[in-house]
Parts: sequence; structure tokens; C-alpha cells
Amino acid sequence: MPEAQTAVTDETIIDVDKIRADFPILSQTFNGKPLVYLDNAATTQKPRQVIERMQRFESEEYGTVRRGAYKLSEKATRLYEEGRQKVADLLRAGSKSEIIFTSGTTQSINLVAYSFGKRFIQPGDEIIISTIEHHANTVPWQILCEERGAVLKVIPVNDDGELIMEEYDKLLSSKTKMVAVNHISNALGTINPVEEIIEKAHQVGAKVLIDGAQSTPHMKINVQALDCDFYTFSGHKMYAPSGIGGLFGKMEVLEDMPPYVTGGDMIAKVTFEKTTYAKPPQRFEAGTPPISQVIGLGEAIDYINSIGLDSIARYENFLLEYGTKLLEEIDGCRIIGTAKNKASILSFYLDAVHPHDVVTLLDEDCIELRGGHHCAQPTMQRFNVPATTRASMSFYNKKEELDALAEGIRRAIQVFS
Ligand SMILES: *Cc1c(COP(=O)(O)O)cnc(C)c1O
Repeated sequence: MPEAQTAVTDETIIDVDKIRADFPILSQTFNGKPLVYLDNAATTQKPRQVIERMQRFESEEYGTVRRGAYKLSEKATRLYEEGRQKVADLLRAGSKSEIIFTSGTTQSINLVAYSFGKRFIQPGDEIIISTIEHHANTVPWQILCEERGAVLKVIPVNDDGELIMEEYDKLLSSKTKMVAVNHISNALGTINPVEEIIEKAHQVGAKVLIDGAQSTPHMKINVQALDCDFYTFSGHKMYAPSGIGGLFGKMEVLEDMPPYVTGGDMIAKVTFEKTTYAKPPQRFEAGTPPISQVIGLGEAIDYINSIGLDSIARYENFLLEYGTKLLEEIDGCRIIGTAKNKASILSFYLDAVHPHDVVTLLDEDCIELRGGHHCAQPTMQRFNVPATTRASMSFYNKKEELDALAEGIRRAIQVFS
């Protein structure tokens, strides 16, 4: 299984100083202190290549897409569709028509819950999610179940934050119509065994949505090999702008789904008697899209590819291992989420200090962390903590920044004890 290989670590595979020079924000200092940005699971910073490409489009090439038969519009349409092709190549989709642009993972999941749900979910049907989902992969299914009289089932996790697969097996039945789980948990970093989850769901005839918000920037994805029906991502978590993201959907599944938002660009023919819909992906892209964001996303994908996702995974695994050791040495610091198969996310809880105080105190040293429930309250409930502090690493982070993190944590414990 490809997932087992993610434990390979290599500190030297990335020239981190060279990479950092591409990210203007990382060279900033505040009160003379360098910025230590460790909130990459919430959003990532952008390389100048992405910023400059969008600026060039806005200042020299801007036009609308899919409408005007004049130069600017034709070029904008070509660049926009090239962005779609880059996403299809990144996810190894069979065709770029299977890529729908949305504002991000939240909208992608809502699209599927609304559209697939409206057409296929009946009273008594069951939808399976897991305990460690983002609210974006919980609430839309919950609402769908309430509206359609369907039942939401939840895969439990063990104390390491790994899905208990025997329990998943027990939840599956001919009533299961949809299984929706994340590839990597944003709150704990767990990498879920999605191949097995997908295969077993298909055996009972269910469709599968994988929330890939955290996985797309960290590892190679192949939606054809995974055989998932839907896969989501967010641009702003993969070095691209906010406001853009997307949904992969198998064409045969998308073709049977009604539109989610209606209006211009998603129709085949409109009369007051009847409107017929365009084919996917246009059917799901009503209205004028975020054009320069798509072009920025394409540039971000080029940037990721120029480093290589295998190298990114190896280097980030190194950071995870290094940071884990540092945190394990601190008395009174408990790592929440200790799965064998993990991405570069370190959630922790200090006996002596509330996560919000940890974040405020370390911010004084310009170390940027996230404290809270990470839009995953059921995960916090499962581990009996009100919140955690989270450090999430990217390929532009350095081990010295994790040394600074550990030092900051020790200082916080001292201040509060
Ligand atoms: C961030 C995140 C989301 C929500 O993504 P948006 O970009 O805010 O729509 C959903 N699931 C996971 C696992 C995430 O990390």
C-alpha cells in the first residue's frame, strides 16, 4: 500500500533556504524576531511565482472566460482551462472534465451532499463518516440525513487516533449509500487507509468521497488508482490563493447528478418552459468563476511539482519525526494523535496551560500556532480535551523552528506553573 511508504524521512532532500527565498512573507520579522509560521494545516503561504503570475494576469491579460470571442477572453479561457488540466494531472484524473472548480473543500462537499443527496439518498439509507472529520465533512451530511430521513453512522477511532477498521466493517451494509472520510485528519494528522475504505464501500454498492484538503499538498494522489468517486481539495492549503479549490468526480457519477447552484454558464438551453443542463464540469460551475485564482492555483501546482511530492513527503516526515521527539521530551506535554501513519501535524495538550494561552504566549516570540478545536469538535470530545495546540509543518519549515517551538512550550509551562 502506498501509504505505508510515507514514513521515509530525508532532511537533505530539500534545499530549504532556497525554497524559503521564494516565499516573501517568510523573510519578515516582527519586533526583530523572525516569523515562524507553523499553521500550515489552516492555510499555507504563497511563493512569489504564484503572486507574480496572478499579478501579471490581472495587469496584462485579464478577461472573462467562456464568453467573449475576442483576444482577452480567449486567452483567459485558455489559461483557465490549462489550470483545470494541471489539477487533473496532479490528481491523476482520467479527464479534465472530471474536475469542477469550487471555492474549496467546504463547497465541494456541500455540492456532493446537496446534489448527490437530492438524487440518490432515500429514507432509511445510511451515510458513514468518521470521528475525526472536519466539520465541513460532518455538517453537510448531518443536514442531508435530517432532510431525507437517512441515518449518519460514525467510524470510531482508537487512542492513537486511527480508524478502527473492524468497526467500519460492521457499519457497512446494503443500506450504506455514501462513505465520506478525510485522507489526512487536520486535527491529528492521521493518514487514513483510504484504499481499503473505498474498496469495502464499493463492495456494498456505496459511493465514496475523500476529503483531500490536507493530503493534496503532502503526498501523491492518484484518484484512478484509489477508485474514489469524489475527491476534494482547497487551493489555499496548497500554496495557491484562497477562494479556489475543487472537486474530482467520476464522470459516470457526475453525469447523473443535478446542478447545485443554477444560473449562467451551467445550462444547455433555457426557455421559460424548460431548461436543460450543460454536461459536467460546466453543469456545476454556474456564474463567473474566480479566474485569476485558478491561474494562481495552476502556478502553485507547477511549484509543487518542481520540488516533487515524494521529496515533500520525505522532508515533512523528517520534520514530523524531529518535532515529535522534541515534544515527547517535555514533561506535561501530551501529543494528541499518535497514529503510525501520520502527516506533518503535531497536536498537543499541556496539562498546565490552556491552548489559547499557549498560542498567545508563543505569538509574542512570533511563533504562529493554532489553538482550538480545529473545526473538529467531535475529535476533541473523543480525546477528552477542550482544544489542542497544533503545529503543522510545510516543506518550507526548518528544524530550528521546531527547536524554537519546543523552547516556547517549556517557557509557557514555566510561566503558568
Ligand atoms: C481545511 C479543511 C477543510 C475545509 O476546507 P476549506 O478550504 O476551509 O473549505 C475540510 N477538511 C479538512 C480535512 C481540512 O483540513
